[in-house]
Amino acid sequence: MQQAINSEIMMVLDVCIDSRTDEAGTREAMERTHRWAVRSLAAKEKRSTGQALFGIVQGGVHPALRDASAEFLTKLPFDGFAIGGLAVGETKVERDTMTERATASLPQDKPRYLMGVGTPTDLLEAVLRGVDMFDCIIPTKMAQQGYAYTFQGLVRITRTAYRLEDGPLDPECDCYVCKRYTRGYLQHLMRGKHHLGSRFLSVHNVRHYQKLMERIREGILRNGYAQTYRELKAAVATPKDLKDEAAATAVTLKDVG
Ligand SMILES: [Zn+2]
Repeated sequence: MQQAINSEIMMVLDVCIDSRTDEAGTREAMERTHRWAVRSLAAKEKRSTGQALFGIVQGGVHPALRDASAEFLTKLPFDGFAIGGLAVGETKVERDTMTERATASLPQDKPRYLMGVGTPTDLLEAVLRGVDMFDCIIPTKMAQQGYAYTFQGLVRITRTAYRLEDGPLDPECDCYVCKRYTRGYLQHLMRGKHHLGSRFLSVHNVRHYQKLMERIREGILRNGYAQTYRELKAAVATPKDLKDEAAATAVTLKDVG
């Protein structure tokens, strides 16, 4: 089917289970994913279409299984590797730890793709742990709920404060919507439940994600990632991010002492 629609990157079929599944269940799902990966490669090799095929590392939140999965898959000639089975019920700390664990055992010269993640802050954290690519419904899902991501933080467009605002969603954004419409007009569309409202916020949010990744790439090439990470993290932080960060710090302090 992926050959029929000519996707640039084909993904193997994988078994994605709840992160809370026990080790035996996780192993079974991982081994099935591996068998499917081998069959996918065989199917790809039958017909040369110039499409890339990525394998998917599974293993839930079990470190030994993550390692085994990466070891098995990286012996096969995939064009890149995805980290699957995260963002399905585990904590943020578990996700970060497993992401780091998985990228450490993947080759340096092939793309790493973290599936189904995340918010702008999640992307910054994952890049810090060695991830190159993402896909996620969050930018459009949040747009449907009236939220716009900007480099000045998260904007809930239905807030009364924006009713008469003549400025764009994000003055730093070059998207179709920011070049043409004001915050006041976008609020009018969202409050009136006009379908164009969430469409426009989606156009903006998707562009914001592209811009975020552009800035990350530029930062890495210019002076390494550390400074870019700090600057962008401060720029895109949402109230929830700050709360999560405070909770994670509290856990660390408790563990220490
Ligand atoms: Zn925009």
